[in-house]
Amino acid sequence: MNIHEYQAKALLRSYGAPVSDGRAVLRAEEAKTAAGEMDGPLWVVKAQIHAGGRGKGHFKEAQAGEKGGVRLAKSVGEAAEMAKQMLGRTLVTHQTGPAGKQVNRIYIEDGSDIARELYLALLVDRQASRISFVASTEGGMDIEEVAAKTPEKIVSFSVDPASGLSDFHGRRVAFALGLEGAQVKQCVGLVRILYKAFVEKDMEMLEINPLVVTPDGNLKVLDAKISFDGNALYRHSDILALRDETEEDPKELAASKFDLNYIALDGDIGCMVNGAGLAMATMDIIKLYGAAPANFLDVGGGATKEKVTEAFKIITSDPQVKGILVNIFGGIMRCDVIAEGVIAAVKEVGLKVPLVVRLEGTNVEKGKDIIKNSGLNVIAADDLKDGAQKIVKAVKG
Ligand code: GDP
Ligand code: MG
Repeated sequence: MNIHEYQAKALLRSYGAPVSDGRAVLRAEEAKTAAGEMDGPLWVVKAQIHAGGRGKGHFKEAQAGEKGGVRLAKSVGEAAEMAKQMLGRTLVTHQTGPAGKQVNRIYIEDGSDIARELYLALLVDRQASRISFVASTEGGMDIEEVAAKTPEKIVSFSVDPASGLSDFHGRRVAFALGLEGAQVKQCVGLVRILYKAFVEKDMEMLEINPLVVTPDGNLKVLDAKISFDGNALYRHSDILALRDETEEDPKELAASKFDLNYIALDGDIGCMVNGAGLAMATMDIIKLYGAAPANFLDVGGGATKEKVTEAFKIITSDPQVKGILVNIFGGIMRCDVIAEGVIAAVKEVGLKVPLVVRLEGTNVEKGKDIIKNSGLNVIAADDLKDGAQKIVKAVKG
């Protein structure tokens, strides 16, 4: 789960990280009061969307010379005007894709003077099975670009959880960032704060880009992106409360409400499968026969008829879907339950695209009979290969 920059900053501030004063606003009328609560002489007005690259992004229907989603204002009035200009509009960045994201929240921050822009991130390094630090002197830029062009400017190392974090790690980050004197001590303190927050809140990634050095030599967190481990959210009601559902894919959101593992993809064959491994295999075989899956969907081992109906509705609500492949192995799951769910869903939402169903396992004959006797136009498949070939043929003609 992702949160907004202003929420991430509030969280880091609560752990003692150096963060500027700021106010989040939802309505243009609130902007003037919010900006007025800070002294100036510089205000930063920042569009809050769950995507990076806002500064270099652009608004749809932008006027000539109009700035992106991070703007500097010299007065309260100017800050309020900028907030008003951005609210409700669609911001396109290299991370949003061409459709962009609607800006529903603005963060107005007390502006900082900047001497240097640095990069610092923590992430769960799956290969090392540890938390890793990534540090670079090239802050404020796309880290992917730095990695591609000047990889030597990125320093990365992981922390052994058995011995934990020590000041040595903080000094290593400070050295990688080219910090000196009192800044080293500040950096060691910041690294401790970030690591503690990361572990306690079950983060997956914490990215500060840029971490800046101010002209008076202090470190400051100028941008913050945090994503949390979805499987650990049950023990962080405070974090869950920060969820902004308007930022999520509506189909993925609906799926999460029914405890379905669903991820939207950009192909045109909708898949309903039970078990993550079988779902992967199904996506692979669709690719093998020349088409692409519109989604990953694992309805789980113990799905009910209602859950299957919801899953089916989510798949058919996607205008990209030109055909559906249901591929179920009835182990714990019974094939007749799936068949009933599919029939119920088709009756409720209608079926405008070809549907191929492959059932195998517990109660398979019962399941096949239910589908055969339903009177619906369903293409039966004997096995995975047959199912994939039939749906690809039905979609591609
Ligand atoms: P992003 O574009 O979504 O990554 O948003 P950031 O919060 O990183 O802002 C983009 C850029 O705006 C930063 O790299 C800075 O150069 C600039 N910026 C952000 N906050 C301030 C500030 O307080 N003062 C100044 N002078 N520049 C800022
Ligand atoms: Mg940034």
